Amino acid sequence: MTDSKASMQTSADIVLANPRGFCAGVDRAIIIVEQALEKFGAPIYVRNEVVHNKFVVDGLRAKGAIFVQHLDEIPAGSTVIFSAHGVSKAVRAEAEERGLIAYDATCPLVTKVHIEVAKMRDAGMEIIMIGHKGHPEVEGTMGQVEADHDEDDEVVSTGIYLVETPADVAQLKVKNPDKLSFVTQTTLSMDDAATVIEALKTKYPNIHAPKSEDICYATQNRQDAVKLMAKDCDLVIIVGSPNSSNSNRLWEVAQKQGVEAYMVDNVSYLQASWLVGKKKVGVSAGASAPEVLVKEVVSQLQHMGAKQVEELRGVIESVVFQLPKNLTAAESKKT
Ligand code: SF4
Repeated sequence: MTDSKASMQTSADIVLANPRGFCAGVDRAIIIVEQALEKFGAPIYVRNEVVHNKFVVDGLRAKGAIFVQHLDEIPAGSTVIFSAHGVSKAVRAEAEERGLIAYDATCPLVTKVHIEVAKMRDAGMEIIMIGHKGHPEVEGTMGQVEADHDEDDEVVSTGIYLVETPADVAQLKVKNPDKLSFVTQTTLSMDDAATVIEALKTKYPNIHAPKSEDICYATQNRQDAVKLMAKDCDLVIIVGSPNSSNSNRLWEVAQKQGVEAYMVDNVSYLQASWLVGKKKVGVSAGASAPEVLVKEVVSQLQHMGAKQVEELRGVIESVVFQLPKNLTAAESKKT
């Protein structure tokens, strides 16, 4: 923020959504990288950004983590960590082939979806995945499925189809509408997913739903909290990185409440012009955004004149995930 912008004053009040920021899966993924660095020393390779937040990734990089997109960038015998978004079966197999020592930071709630997918395939079903094309979680979940081949080894069905919108559902052609199930990405907008599920159920009345909701508790709670907060605000600021799916969904949720909303990776993206004439500014953060970044945004708003800071009440989360056993049991290699 420039000095001239920073000197613009506001008299708006601030409200903070609750819950906001880190979820149990993100907490666990960061601890896994930190413990691996602590036990084995740098460098520790991480496939993809371990969580989608620039501040977190830069911090881990400074401690000795090396983020790569492909396993062939990692020297044989090195330690690799799979990100919270999960990986395909092919990636796991490749890590083994390359002699990499792998620790898995896949969120257990993503693993739950992988297990569901495997069971659906064992039951002879094709699967429809509702998710965003190109997102690593979608690639990992779709990569749990092996294609169906005929006797000449030709692929007759990929076994899993990706849809993002009701229009995609309308285009879809499946092998057998009576042997069909669906799963969703864990960080979707609940409202958008409901529309796509509705379209699927209308087109395929016998489609099987997952046993329990795939959109995770953290996504649901954060979206509910932003909805509640946004209705009393005339500006909403979501702290999160541009590649964070759940942060983008929070931003959309606020916009859909008819409120002016922006997503900022950190305080330097805050624009004083957004505050002109505003009375109440709501602040929240995606599940991968640390609280320190929220504090910096609040403190900048206060610096600009905002006085009251109200912390809204919300669901108290007590979810904690265990660390991978192979990591906790591993001997430290540091002397
Ligand atoms: S947002 Fe949900 S699925 Fe993703 S890491 Fe957090 S708890 Fe796990």
